[in-house]
Amino acid sequence: MIPPAEPASSEILPSKKGLRQTEQRKAIFEALMAKADHPSAVDVFMRVKTRMPSISLATVYNCLDTLAASGLVRTVNHEREPSRFCANQQDHAHLFCTSCNSVTDLPLRNPVVPSEIWDLPEGVQIADQQVSFRGLCSACSEASAPRPRFQQSPPLPVQTSPDTNPTFQPQA
Ligand SMILES: [Zn+2]
Ligand SMILES: [Zn+2]
Repeated sequence: MIPPAEPASSEILPSKKGLRQTEQRKAIFEALMAKADHPSAVDVFMRVKTRMPSISLATVYNCLDTLAASGLVRTVNHEREPSRFCANQQDHAHLFCTSCNSVTDLPLRNPVVPSEIWDLPEGVQIADQQVSFRGLCSACSEASAPRPRFQQSPPLPVQTSPDTNPTFQPQA
């Protein structure tokens, strides 16, 4: 006997105690999983609206709050920008690109015990850690790479283009 196929959507949102799986929450979580670019609530709204035209921005805010409170979604805050959201469940840090404003997930190589890395004052209890870096993402760093600003070797002599080079004519 073939077991009845499970509806695909039941797998999308991991079950969490006390979290009701509404269609909106599923759609929002799915949108976050589909593209890990750390969208803002408005970005999520625009994405979910294409398949759920009746959804409101307020509902998206509420669902994101609920998902964040349940731990399924992380709120990513950077300076005074609007919160962005991340559904990556693995331990990771965030790289904020100062050039294109993107947020990239930096996965942890090894599991981390905070007290082994940070000098924690006595009595401090860590409930959650959010590590972030500022710098350039791969794309921006590549785009700005061929800048010989800190070249160690002496500057190259001015190159004349091949057209203006006197060509050597062998004497007949
Ligand atoms: Zn992230
Ligand atoms: Zn960038």
